[in-house]
Amino acid sequence: MVKPTDNREPTSKRGLECPDCGCMHFRVLYTRRAWGGRLLRRRTCRHCGRRVTTYERVGG
Ligand SMILES: [Zn+2]
Repeated sequence: MVKPTDNREPTSKRGLECPDCGCMHFRVLYTRRAWGGRLLRRRTCRHCGRRVTTYERVGG
């Protein structure tokens, strides 16, 4: 399947979608503290198994 555009969006937004299958069901593998006071979350798509890493800003 050919993707028309690769419009990846910032992962800080709510409603993360899988870049491969477009589903929004993710399982969090682990959460880890990253540099700059951020949280790194490793997630895997429940549908196709695609792994994505998101960085979330911690309030405060
Ligand atoms: Zn997927």
